[in-house]
Amino acid sequence: MSDIVKLLPESVANQIAAGEVVQRPASVVKELMENSVDAGATKIKLVIKDAGRLLIQVIDNGCGMSETDARMSFERHATSKLRNADDLFKINTFGFRGEALASIAAIAQVVMKTRRKEDEVGTAITIEGSKFVSQEMCTCDYGTSISVKNIFYNVPARRSFLKSNTQELKHIMEEFTKVALINPHISFSMYNNDSVVTELMSESFKQRIMNLVNKSYSNKIIPVEAATDTVRISGFIGKPETAKKTKNTDQYFFVNGRYVKHPYLKHAIESTYQELIPADTYPMYFVKIDINPELIDVNIHPTKTEINFQDAHIIYAILKSAVKHSFGQYSMEVPSLDLDAEPSFIMTNADENRPIVQPKIKYDANYNPFNGLNNQRQPANEDWKSFYNEINTRFDHSQNEHITFGDKQTDNATLGDEPTGLFTDMGTEFIQSRNQYIIGTVKNGIIIIDQARADERIKYEKLVAQMEKGETAAQTDMFPETITLSYDESIILDESKDEFEKLGFKFGKMGQSNYVINAHPADITTDEIKSFFEDVLTNIKHEYSNKSVSRIKAIAKVTAKKTGLKSGKKLFVEEMRQIAQSLSQCSVKDTDLDGNPIYVIIDMDAVSKMFNN
Ligand code: ADP
Ligand code: MG
Repeated sequence: MSDIVKLLPESVANQIAAGEVVQRPASVVKELMENSVDAGATKIKLVIKDAGRLLIQVIDNGCGMSETDARMSFERHATSKLRNADDLFKINTFGFRGEALASIAAIAQVVMKTRRKEDEVGTAITIEGSKFVSQEMCTCDYGTSISVKNIFYNVPARRSFLKSNTQELKHIMEEFTKVALINPHISFSMYNNDSVVTELMSESFKQRIMNLVNKSYSNKIIPVEAATDTVRISGFIGKPETAKKTKNTDQYFFVNGRYVKHPYLKHAIESTYQELIPADTYPMYFVKIDINPELIDVNIHPTKTEINFQDAHIIYAILKSAVKHSFGQYSMEVPSLDLDAEPSFIMTNADENRPIVQPKIKYDANYNPFNGLNNQRQPANEDWKSFYNEINTRFDHSQNEHITFGDKQTDNATLGDEPTGLFTDMGTEFIQSRNQYIIGTVKNGIIIIDQARADERIKYEKLVAQMEKGETAAQTDMFPETITLSYDESIILDESKDEFEKLGFKFGKMGQSNYVINAHPADITTDEIKSFFEDVLTNIKHEYSNKSVSRIKAIAKVTAKKTGLKSGKKLFVEEMRQIAQSLSQCSVKDTDLDGNPIYVIIDMDAVSKMFNN
């Protein structure tokens, strides 16, 4: 009797093994896209035809392969990512086993074109059902393009198991999303039957979440962060009110740059939300875990989406406390970061109950404003000194018993009820004093406006109106400049990108906290750009931690303060007129952004008394 034990032909062995790696078109998408990421590509394009049945093609601009490597890459256990068994536990990516390309080539018709940058010509390989068909020189862009045609053409049982196009496409989209989410620095595009499904530029993690998952998440997710010597947790979690009724929706863990499932860590997050969200609802999360690869075992599942941590319970605890901390920081203490929130730094309403005090001027007996008038049109500085001191005291200490300032002390009987009453019959002539005050006349007296405070208020109201309307301020293009921010500043900037763009900035992101600025608001000079950017962020951070203000208002406030007219600037009459006019149209005109008075009015009746009339 002859021997009956036979080795399976290589192609059949490959087909069986392929079953582990390739269950459906989406599995091919995952493997090819991950290879492109590993190849250092900065652009990855996915082309799908007929939900992947006809074609799955991934084109990248990564490192490419030599002629020999291209051929080798289809051999089972061929990988450039491991040299020996030890590497399995060392490399900073997942357990490479060199199985994907061999498995894919076993169940489809595959054409790979690849070229390294340094090579003049590329190589094109065709393999069908594990059988080598041809390899020839070709002209192609550097990088790699792999076309997988007629998936399961030689495994009819599997082919008939495929679901509807809609279903298969949904799986493909899911795999595409997982890879694209965790690689926001890479530009991705996806085409289905020749039409664009999505195009993503290099961007921040948060922007990638918005552009890929849901635009409206901008103000629905909050940062989560924690770090120890061996593990770093970062990313975003949904605010409690965004919990969903469907399970497993928008829940992502990424470990060392790859999407993974982890029911135990999922529990760490979901249980922390428990008291904050209704029963049967589920929070969303986009959490990255970066960990020393020696502390994970990734080879428990052939498609590498399940992993084990050596100290899973420690990571569980860190994650839970990071989520709690985020609630504390963003949801509880600062409950109303939303755009409708009223800024608490506008002080006008706080003055509502201030008693109306009859204005009276306390005058200096030695003071004679007409001293020196014969010699010059403006009184000499000396003569005005005590007067200025008085005015300065009023501006600085907000005392109100001698001089009127702000609507709230207005004698309505004389000035009318409209909020603009104080500016009734404002004259058109103005003089500037000490390059600090604009002096003009109003119906009942003399108005003295602090130019810096007025301009700050005017700019602020203009900016808020403009940003709320969604208009973009005038901007100036600049030679690109790179700035590096701290982690929390980068988070604020990512969250506030829209507002910054409306302000007139144009910038892109490189890595976690480097930004390239290409344009800035026309109001500031290119020289001040870096410090401006950093100051605005520091100030927003400050506003955030102190008060619940809207982001638009916080940004407008610091921008107005930064770009506002300074004391000491000489003004033309036309400029003074413009400021007085604009102030009269502001919705709040009494106080600047810190609650200091913007103007004082000296009642002419009181002046008359000074003349003993
Ligand atoms: P693994 O990714 O586990 O190494 P694969 O079968 O997916 O195994 O790929 C085999 C090898 O082929 C890789 O290790 C890599 O050297 C090479 N390779 C695959 N895809 C690409 C690509 N897009 N660009 C450059 N090299 C690639
Ligand atoms: Mg691979």
